[in-house]
Amino acid sequence: MNAWRVAVRTSVGVVRSSNQDAHWSNDSLVVVADGMGGHAAGEVASAIAVSTIAEAFAGDQSSEGLRRAVVLCNDRILKDAELNPERHGMGTTAVALGLVSAPDGLLPVIANLGDSRAYQIRDGAIRLITADHSVAEEWFRQGRISAQEAAVHPRRHQLTRALGIAQTPDVDLFPMAVQPTDIILLCSDGLTNEVSETEIIDIVEAAESLEDAASELVSRAEANGGRDNITVALVEILGPMSQPLATSPAAVTSAATPPPRARTRRVTWRLGAALAALGAVLAGAVVVLGWYANSSYYLAADGAYVAVYRGQPHGLLWFAPTEIMTTDFLAAQLRPADVTALGNDIVEPSLAAAIHYAGYLHSAWLMSQFSTPSTPAG
Ligand code: MG
Repeated sequence: MNAWRVAVRTSVGVVRSSNQDAHWSNDSLVVVADGMGGHAAGEVASAIAVSTIAEAFAGDQSSEGLRRAVVLCNDRILKDAELNPERHGMGTTAVALGLVSAPDGLLPVIANLGDSRAYQIRDGAIRLITADHSVAEEWFRQGRISAQEAAVHPRRHQLTRALGIAQTPDVDLFPMAVQPTDIILLCSDGLTNEVSETEIIDIVEAAESLEDAASELVSRAEANGGRDNITVALVEILGPMSQPLATSPAAVTSAATPPPRARTRRVTWRLGAALAALGAVLAGAVVVLGWYANSSYYLAADGAYVAVYRGQPHGLLWFAPTEIMTTDFLAAQLRPADVTALGNDIVEPSLAAAIHYAGYLHSAWLMSQFSTPSTPAG
């Protein structure tokens, strides 16, 4: 039995004359790429991306294999642009979902570079897994502009990371915690610029089938303007999967690690039935409380360095926070307001997000050393 089912739809949209998005899917890999560059070069870049990732990942189905597959695309795109000067400057985003071999089964891992996205959908809730590598999004993470400003900012399409730009691309990897019936959405920005997360979840929930949901998402993006190429890949998880190791320093867990469901099923005996039921409720409450206490990751100083702790800052009842790892960032190399917030206010939903955020705080400090933040120009 396959581990997942995939439905993919793509459209040129209603404004553009060609579709520079590309996609690929089989029973262990799904890729969406959004190419850019004039004279059809974007189409070449995205096509190189999907074919290279497919070929390379087939030869090494590990997390590192997935990362290397994306890096290999970069080499091939740069080489192609060198050989074909008319394609100079072409690039592409890539978001790939690979099933990698783990000791106890298969683990879904997302690799991302650029502003195509991956979402996880479960029980009527949607969660963004990837972080956009765009100027506006990075300014938002640095606190220079608000989320609302970032969503409509003219530089939201200007990428800070993509394939075909740098010699050594910095690929984000997100091991995912999934369960059967979860849906993972990979898409180009032609969907997310036109269709809100609320609309996405409404469409997926209302659809009769995965295929209908994918078609309807593309139709809605067209109806809302269709100003860009639109590609949607919906992946429904069919069987149990391996789970990421949340406490391993090497494991960057996804932001989409949903709460474990606490369900207590106990043998009750007639006389003690009421008492047992009450006990079960209390036990459930303790499990839920324990989950809540440990569901967050926050940044605090450990000696000279910024460290990531799991738990609630200052603890919750008898659940004390635990240190997960020390980052490479010195607390002294953060802005004063961020230093004050350490140990108190910087709470993130996952280890990956916390590490990511520590990096951004450090970048923000670096920028403050070399430049005065100015009002972003268009
Ligand atoms: Mg696009």
